[in-house]
Amino acid sequence: MATSTVEQRVYNFSAGPAVLPVSVLERIRDEMLCLPGAGCSLLEMSHRDKRFLEILHGAQAGLRELLSISDDYEVLFLQGGSRLQFSMIPVNFLRGSDAAAEYLLTGSWSKKAIDEAVKEGAANVAWDGKSSNYAALPQGGDYRVADDAAYLYYCSNETIQGVQFASEPDCPAGVPLVCDASSDFLCRPLDVAKYGVLYACAQKNAGPAGVTAVIIRKDLLSRGSDDLPGYLQYRNHAEADSEWNTPPTFAIYALGLVTEWLKEQGGLAAMESLNRRKSQLLYDCIDQFPEFYQGHAQADCRSLMNVTFRLPNDDLQAEFLARAADNELCNLKGHRSVGGIRASIYNAMPEAGVAALAELMRDFANQRA
Ligand SMILES: *Cc1c(COP(=O)(O)O)cnc(C)c1O
Repeated sequence: MATSTVEQRVYNFSAGPAVLPVSVLERIRDEMLCLPGAGCSLLEMSHRDKRFLEILHGAQAGLRELLSISDDYEVLFLQGGSRLQFSMIPVNFLRGSDAAAEYLLTGSWSKKAIDEAVKEGAANVAWDGKSSNYAALPQGGDYRVADDAAYLYYCSNETIQGVQFASEPDCPAGVPLVCDASSDFLCRPLDVAKYGVLYACAQKNAGPAGVTAVIIRKDLLSRGSDDLPGYLQYRNHAEADSEWNTPPTFAIYALGLVTEWLKEQGGLAAMESLNRRKSQLLYDCIDQFPEFYQGHAQADCRSLMNVTFRLPNDDLQAEFLARAADNELCNLKGHRSVGGIRASIYNAMPEAGVAALAELMRDFANQRA
């Protein structure tokens, strides 16, 4: 039988599903045949089992502790990925409402969210980054949101373009701020009290595919109509403690292990400094060779998680990717919709992996530029 070892692992810059901490993978391996004391694998256990409920509540508590989430919020674990949230948000908060929802259109994922919202009601584009080719983000004052808007929606980190909000966009008091934080969830501390809904699929920065964490202010739970399909109604999930139907037990377990790992690393403030250091290694190369590595994001909205750039032509790009792969630096090709290079450097990407990529970037530019 082929064995699987840590030595076989490359530096994996995949945008998602993405790198996980080795210690989390080892723990999963060690507990796979039998969860200690449970007599069976977690994969074989009822979601009503007391042991699984401890895991579910541990994962919720892990998120609550890392993000200092107050009792005014529910922490739900749902399926359907972030894509289902693109629909669940307007289905619950826009359908049948007299007010319009406002969207900040900052890249590919917010665009897809708008495409779903317009099916449910009036969804306005309050700001559109088109003129910069989605390399820039709005400043306060660049857009207007009515005081009675249904909600203001934005994506904190556009995974494909590599642009990230440095802090929450301006939003009138009383208008729920809704955020797709899929690709920068847990990369830095957040003031959850500023949000109505904050959600993230796990497979970028928080765990494996299969679960989406939804942090929702409790007063919003009463808004959705009773006529909705049951799964789409947030209230049902809150009342059933995320067990309205069988939840993705394995993904929740793994997400819980990631929250434990984050606490061992010193929490989200420590993660933020590490992420700043890591991303700076790459942005420094881009700034050192600006003609050769053409960064996509404007300097003031560069992402800590997804570093995007192009080389002068396709041949050089292909050669760069081949050289990277020879050095076990893998999955660096940009999203098919925008091309170029994308280095996704989530929490679990070791600093040594980013340093190795930066070294390659410097060597390659010195030889080819
Ligand atoms: C990956 C991603 C999504 C889509 O997530 P799914 O779980 O595949 O639905 C949505 N938004 C952002 C910002 C993403 O990075």
